[in-house]
Order: sequence, then C-alpha cells, then structure tokens
Amino acid sequence: MNAILEELMLLVVPVLQADIEDNQNLWERDSLIIQLEAKQIDDVEEENHRRTLTAEPMEIQCINCSTTICKSKDLRTIQKAHHILVNKEFADRLIMARSPIPAFQEEDLKYDGQVFCSNPECRGDLGGVCEYKSLEFPLLSLKRLRFVKSDGQGACFKQWKRVACYIAELTLDDLREIVEERRANM
Ligand SMILES: [Zn+2]
Repeated sequence: MNAILEELMLLVVPVLQADIEDNQNLWERDSLIIQLEAKQIDDVEEENHRRTLTAEPMEIQCINCSTTICKSKDLRTIQKAHHILVNKEFADRLIMARSPIPAFQEEDLKYDGQVFCSNPECRGDLGGVCEYKSLEFPLLSLKRLRFVKSDGQGACFKQWKRVACYIAELTLDDLREIVEERRANM
C-alpha cells in the first residue's frame, strides 16, 4: 500500500509543483499588469493636471499672515519631490535656522533646520532648510502656503502635484546661475 502511495506521490507532486509555479507566474504577471495600469492612470492624471496649469506665475503667501514670500516662478523642484526657493531676492522674507546636526545625510541632498516667516508679528513655520550640492535653500512646506492668482483669487493645496501652477525642475543652468549669484554677493 505504501509503495503505491509513494508512486502516486511521485507522479502527483511534480504536477502540483508545476501548477503552483504557473499560478505564481500568473499572479506575478497580474500584479505587474495592475502596477502598469496604475502607473498609466497616474501618468494620464499628471498629464491632465499639467494641461490645467496656468502659465501665469502665482504669488505665494504665508498662510498665517499673508506676507508675500515669492512667486511660483522662483520655486524649483529637486528630484521632482522637494520644492525649494531659488530666488535670493526673497531671502529677507524668510528666517533660516540650521540645526548643527543634519537630520538627513545623503551625498547630494540633506535637510535640517527650519524656515520661519520674517514678519515679526507672525514668525510662522514655513518649512525646512535643504542643502543640495553644498548650496543651501529654503524648503517650503506646502501646508503653510497660499497661492494667489493675479485676480486676487487664492487657494491652498494639500499635494504639490495638485498645485495649479507650473513649477520647473532645478537644472544645471539654474545651479550655475545660483553659484555665480552667491559668489557675487559674498
Ligand atoms: Zn507669516
């Protein structure tokens, strides 16, 4: 009896194993298809959102006291994720405070410290400090900002990808310009 069972197992087990592997491959393939579809939906949403973006730069204000901090054209993204202020003209609107030990150590990108509204009546928290390629930038926190169109209509956004104006990615040319500008002001 045992011998028959053993023989049967020898026949059945490889079939079962193959079946499990096939299903696993199917499952992996399905999961890949789902991921690809989700990515396509994201891309379409991003493209649709991009089309609704206004070319006209918006004014960015401190949500707490409505002081103008900068224009949206003065912002850049790093790695499409971190939103920094690159225009030095607005440095007096902010107070930057670095912490002695960076909380985040990466070769190119570090953040630490805090940025506050320079209005003495406000001093609201506006984000952190970002160090990119050894250059320091204010890293603005979206939930502390209000975006105002030229007609005075203002809006707040929960996600940067929903912000209704175009924000460019930081380029090498921008970096060169910033380095030159900072050298000139040293
Ligand atoms: Zn303020």
